[in-house]
Amino acid sequence: MCIRKNAYIVQGDWLNFTEMTRENHTKTSLIRVALDVPLSTLFDYSVSDAMQLEIGQRVVVPFGRKEVVGIALEWATQSELASSRIKSVLRVLDDVPPLPQELLTLLRFCSDYYHYPLGMVALSALPARLRDAAPFTAKQALTYRLSSAGEVLDLATLPKRRVVQRRILQTLRLGPGSGAQLRELSASAPAALKALLEAGWVEVCAPSARSAHVFQDAHALTDEQQQAVDAVTRQSGYGCFLLHGITGSGKTEVYVHLMHEMLRPRPELGRRGGGQVLLLVPEINLTPQLEHYFRSRFPDVELVSLHSGLAEGERAQNWLKAQSGAARIVLGTRLAVFTPLPELNLILVDEEHDASFKQQDGLRYSARDVAIFRANQRGVPIVLGSATPSLESWHNAQSGRYRLLQLTQRAVQPATLPVVRCLDVTQLPVQEGLSEPLLAAIESRLQRREQSLIFLNRRGYAPVLMCTACGWLSECKHCAGKLVLHRKDRSLRCHHCGFQQRVPQACPTCGDADLKPVGLGTQRMEEALQARFPAARILRVDRDSTRSKGAWNAMRKQIHDGEADILIGTQMLAKGHDFPNLTLVGVVSPDGALYSADFRAAEKLFAQLTQVGGRAGRADKAGEVIVQTAFPNHPLFQALRAHDYASWAQTLLAERRMAGFPPFVYQALLSAEGKQESEPYRFLQQARAAALALGMPVEVYGVVPAAMPKRANHHRAQLLVQSEQRKLLQEFLRVWKPLLDALPASKVRWVLDIDPLEF
Ligand SMILES: [Zn+2]
Ligand SMILES: [Zn+2]
Repeated sequence: MCIRKNAYIVQGDWLNFTEMTRENHTKTSLIRVALDVPLSTLFDYSVSDAMQLEIGQRVVVPFGRKEVVGIALEWATQSELASSRIKSVLRVLDDVPPLPQELLTLLRFCSDYYHYPLGMVALSALPARLRDAAPFTAKQALTYRLSSAGEVLDLATLPKRRVVQRRILQTLRLGPGSGAQLRELSASAPAALKALLEAGWVEVCAPSARSAHVFQDAHALTDEQQQAVDAVTRQSGYGCFLLHGITGSGKTEVYVHLMHEMLRPRPELGRRGGGQVLLLVPEINLTPQLEHYFRSRFPDVELVSLHSGLAEGERAQNWLKAQSGAARIVLGTRLAVFTPLPELNLILVDEEHDASFKQQDGLRYSARDVAIFRANQRGVPIVLGSATPSLESWHNAQSGRYRLLQLTQRAVQPATLPVVRCLDVTQLPVQEGLSEPLLAAIESRLQRREQSLIFLNRRGYAPVLMCTACGWLSECKHCAGKLVLHRKDRSLRCHHCGFQQRVPQACPTCGDADLKPVGLGTQRMEEALQARFPAARILRVDRDSTRSKGAWNAMRKQIHDGEADILIGTQMLAKGHDFPNLTLVGVVSPDGALYSADFRAAEKLFAQLTQVGGRAGRADKAGEVIVQTAFPNHPLFQALRAHDYASWAQTLLAERRMAGFPPFVYQALLSAEGKQESEPYRFLQQARAAALALGMPVEVYGVVPAAMPKRANHHRAQLLVQSEQRKLLQEFLRVWKPLLDALPASKVRWVLDIDPLEF
């Protein structure tokens, strides 16, 4: 058991706070508890004198006819309930230490800012396992490394059939690995690991002393990287830095050096122990790789990851390691922003522009924004990193609210940025989405034994099936969307609601048998390329081909080992993967975003293309990006060719300012849906009338259909409210939200989204 139960007594000041509060209220023994129910209130319970209860502890209380887990949030002197109606706390769960005051403050902030019930915020921040009344017993999560005998072992001497053992040894050559990580390698990994431990080639890492750590400083920093590191480490107290680095400029190396500085004791700054660093990443798929990488750079530092892909027990365990201070580096997706970190002194948000930092259901928070609040609250620096920052962050850097740090050079010389070429598809014959110049470029890569990637952000075979006789289109009967043709299993599938049916033999309207797939998905692209290059090894990477556990890991290995010639991928493939032999990226149909109704579509497209283009030519080979478009002179493509994010951002910001869009205004979106078309509209009209009647200085728009007006048999509409000042919008929402709660809404589901990204 690695949790030092009393560790929290000396860390931080929350205990003093609770002791003080408790002293004041020992006579009353009334506690307010946060519960996971959709009501903006806390619930009063009495506490018997014999019960040892501290603020932040989990308790079991009666609620209705059930017993539920809640969090004790504050002592109370009196209750609005008659004393006869106040029930008592049934049990105090003392299996894990109470939540620290700092985290409780963060949860309160989220509840206030996002206008979401505090109880639901607080309980959703806990790992699922700790929302359970059964006591949690932590299992020892072990980390493994090669023994000295294992390090000198010649793998060639291992019998051939010990494939999994070999794989484990190869993995551990790169650095220590957790049990969970090794289990990912194969179903028989536990047995193979046991054999390796018995043979003495692998050993369990002993947790190291807390402050000392070895830092594998393999890479000298460029001047720009060093300046970035210096700027952040010299910061005392809160400061928000935007690290804008072109793809391949070595942002990760900056993170590594920053971690090194922040983890070691700095007596000159009054820090005698080491610190803790929180690194947030957008993509769950990236965490195993990054975990491995940071482990190899800090072999003696306890590192844990936190994301929804972990087993419940493991996630709770990692969370507790962070809370006890044992884990020094916490690597996680957005939910990790709510991890208790008593010695936190740096937050890093990688790919800060990525939309997956925003949760799209329940508490609709932006982990990036919450992280900034958290850094501010704690008085520590935060670094937002990106090659294509969000316009919000860029604007803040321009106005001086954030400090801009730039990496303009690729870190590994002579690696240069890829050459970007636009092909005008209005002037070129295109077959199955592919023009001759692009095909010729792929051909030359095949001859040179280099890899190509075709980027197409649409999975399936074709986005719609059409009847050539009457114009019938395959539409989802539950949504305002089309059914996508999946050829392999001859099905039509809705990517919005999951509805599936077999491909009809003939047109359901006119009976004609000539049904044609219209448009291009990744499966069709695969077929077309295979027909053109029969000898090429083609790998399709999208949500369909990577659905099974471990599939994506296996594919990544295949790509690295040179066992694929042409990759076809959606944005999954664009994010943060290094493939050194990849020298060509083809972008086949990007134009939809240029005339999308979503005002952020162009911003997103530029970020995507920069990211996917950044995959080309990262080692010693020059890269090329070919974009097929009908608008080669569009400012977006001009900026892409010139690798000029700054001027592109300037163009977009000027447009946004003119149009009155974020970041020049702050928005809240009220969405409603119901089975009858009239219901969401009626609700939203009432909400709008209530808003207008308040007469507050915010802009209240009309009620309009959602971008997807019908989904899964629900009609959807929305109402936008905005203001040029965040404060005014928040003041309005504080008054408006209770009015919304009071509206008759039995037949609608509604949600209020603050700083919405999706409409
Ligand atoms: Zn027809
Ligand atoms: Zn549907």
